[in-house]
Amino acid sequence: MAQLNLIGRTPEEIGSLVAPLVDRPFRARQVAHWITLRRACTFAEMSDLPKELRRVLDQHFSLAEPEVAARTASRDGSHKYLFRLDDGASVEAVAMPEDGKLTLCLSSQTGCAVGCTFCVTGALGAGRNLAAAEIVGQYRVMARERGPGAERINLVFMGMGEPLLNRVELGRALDVLTQCISPRRITVSTAGILPGIRWLGARPRRPKLAVSLNAPDQVRREHIMPITKRYPLVELMAELRRFPLERGRRITFEYVLIRDFNDSVEDARAVAHLLRGIPSKVNAIPLNEDPVWLPGLSEPESATVEAFGRALRDAGLTVTVRRSKGRDVAAACGQLKGQHQLAERKTADH
Ligand code: SAH
Ligand code: SF4
Repeated sequence: MAQLNLIGRTPEEIGSLVAPLVDRPFRARQVAHWITLRRACTFAEMSDLPKELRRVLDQHFSLAEPEVAARTASRDGSHKYLFRLDDGASVEAVAMPEDGKLTLCLSSQTGCAVGCTFCVTGALGAGRNLAAAEIVGQYRVMARERGPGAERINLVFMGMGEPLLNRVELGRALDVLTQCISPRRITVSTAGILPGIRWLGARPRRPKLAVSLNAPDQVRREHIMPITKRYPLVELMAELRRFPLERGRRITFEYVLIRDFNDSVEDARAVAHLLRGIPSKVNAIPLNEDPVWLPGLSEPESATVEAFGRALRDAGLTVTVRRSKGRDVAAACGQLKGQHQLAERKTADH
């Protein structure tokens, strides 16, 4: 019989699963503490539990995390991971150190059905939802390997997949992750799934929201983000105006700059107009090019990128212009996996 995995479960769930095996209730809490807060990956290391209990737990349960299939270091200090899952599917994640903090970019699905035209994950096509254990597992492995305590870790759901199309498992994963990481240091990024945004807004320990805007009007957004047909831009903006924000909090708008498509100063002004009245900050990201998966799309000249950022600032917005971290190891959404698939296909062709 397959052992039950305790990763991806809340301390309460772990407590009730373990309870029948322990003689005293505090033992169950100890086990939950070891797993959730101390990120233990074996029962053997739970040194304040009786040896016999550790053996029994080991017989009944597993602490299974996704396997690291590849790790690539980038010149800028970030590390890109390719995780192999139990069914052979794979996802990528990135660990980015900055100012003594570590930001971990996590995947929520093995592909993406949303199909944005500038995104390698979209080009790879639909995948399956990750289980909470697979989401939490990415965090555990990278946090263990890359160092700091949970209090210095930020999590962003900006890897592969659309997190708000995997709400059940994302919700479970957030329940676990917010045990040790403040929801203020967790960001969920979405292409604009309206029911998902409402769902997130209604959650008790609510993470921060980032929205991939990418175009200032319905026609162009629909062109690169087909989901805009289903959830039109005006409705998205109306929903965001209703999103509950605590004092001082803002919604992040990601804007991928594509040469000669959405990168003009007029476009920047249109973005500023669209965001009026919403506490926001804009993250402008020059397109991470990929001639194989995204033929014909280029990033703008750096002067164009600067002018775009300046126009947004002149309109009173807070803006960061950043290249995606780890460009030299293909860190944009889905690109590492894209390269692996390509390599596998090439091998298969020979
Ligand atoms: N599905 C979610 C989260 C994953 S995508 C979403 O779309 O928000 C995370 C971010 O990567 C998005 O803001 C997306 O616009 C950006 N992105 C995708 N492809 C990119 C590329 N080729 N270059 C730069 N950013 C890209
Ligand atoms: Fe999916 Fe986000 Fe990529 Fe769009 S940008 S295809 S929603 S992962």
